Amino acid sequence: MFASRPCPIPPAVHFLAAAALGFVLIACGESGDPEARMPGSPDSASPPSDTSAPLPTGEALVLTNARLWDGTGAPPIENGAVSIRAGVILEVGPAGQVAIPDGAEIVDLGGRWLQPGLINAHGHVGPDGERSSVPEQLEIYAHYGITTVLSLGDEAESLRSERWSRELRRARLFVSGPRTGATSEDAAAEVVAERAQAGADWIKAALVGAGDPASVRWIIESARNRGLPVAVHIEELEPARAIVEAGASLVAHSVRDLPVDEALLALMRERGVCVTPTLTRELSTFVYAERPEFFDDPFFLERSAPDDLEAFLTPQRQAQAESSQAIYWRDALPLALENLRRKHQAGVGIAMGTDSGPSGRFQGYFEHVEMEMMVEAGMPAEAVLVSATGGAARCIGLDGIIGTIEPGVWADLLVLEADPRQDIRNTRSIHSVWLAGNRVR
Ligand SMILES: [Zn+2]
Repeated sequence: MFASRPCPIPPAVHFLAAAALGFVLIACGESGDPEARMPGSPDSASPPSDTSAPLPTGEALVLTNARLWDGTGAPPIENGAVSIRAGVILEVGPAGQVAIPDGAEIVDLGGRWLQPGLINAHGHVGPDGERSSVPEQLEIYAHYGITTVLSLGDEAESLRSERWSRELRRARLFVSGPRTGATSEDAAAEVVAERAQAGADWIKAALVGAGDPASVRWIIESARNRGLPVAVHIEELEPARAIVEAGASLVAHSVRDLPVDEALLALMRERGVCVTPTLTRELSTFVYAERPEFFDDPFFLERSAPDDLEAFLTPQRQAQAESSQAIYWRDALPLALENLRRKHQAGVGIAMGTDSGPSGRFQGYFEHVEMEMMVEAGMPAEAVLVSATGGAARCIGLDGIIGTIEPGVWADLLVLEADPRQDIRNTRSIHSVWLAGNRVR
């Protein structure tokens, strides 16, 4: 029956989804080397024309007896099952209604919680003297259930290449290249051309000089001509309004200087512009004034803790966390929380994003802290979970490709011992993590 099953086409095709679509079609409609047709490669613009071709004979897998929460916000399916072939979801539904592919491995999840893997829509992955290697950073994210990272401001193109592989065992990586602003229209065109040439999925922009919004407007216009979405580093209300008006796709931090007003909320909602709150970015500026409690958290110590944890306990490092700058961020945090609550209540798209990666912002662990802080801000736990799965995918243009448990979507999955809607900290009760149907934890 699988040979004749039509290959589902994602409902919304935009941004990256257009580029990735070729891949989903290949993964579920045609055998072949996925690496050879990754987005950005010369033939990526031509997906296979015959999508009714026999499905590949790759390994099939069925996860069954799960409380299956699909990442859209729909209630879980009790005793649910999902069938997977070649890394892509085939069918989803109550166990017994999902066909078992010939020769499929069947995994009984014993009634555990099954949801999409988590998406960090604002991280930093890159070669940095202080940090582990890029492959290890992506392994650490995956260990903690973060199955996709959009890196906004580092260069790590080398590992983009594996993101559509059926053998994937590290977090999927999307990149923007270095953060940029421009002092002229020509300079903007040049830098965007450079990024596009380097294979960036996004452009990460920031205001330059005295904060003239034109510096970002030029970038946005050049990026639009190349079909590239723009994420903008923003922390204040007026620049946020200016860049959303100019056509930015993602506000990369919370506004923390003034309460967000109805006009900005309406504009963001109408234009479908999302925000990554990055609350843990604020936390990281002041939390090391003393020894943070999480230094003793076994979950943190599993993979996030670096060898030089002691470096955070020196008097110099502790003084840095009490500098006037750190205190500014500490005092701005309550307003960032309040603004997140307002944005959520106004129906603005929220994509879980942490700014993890730089020193003191621990990849993998901080995503779980971020979700806890989002609940603290006043978002219901289930809304936070959507913002880290299906909602995040929509915000970064990858809905129908990742982020939900639906036919045609990559099988990036997280299995938990307990329902995270009851307590967001249950995202830490990880039983297993799956990338493209491969168990990685
Ligand atoms: Zn950042």
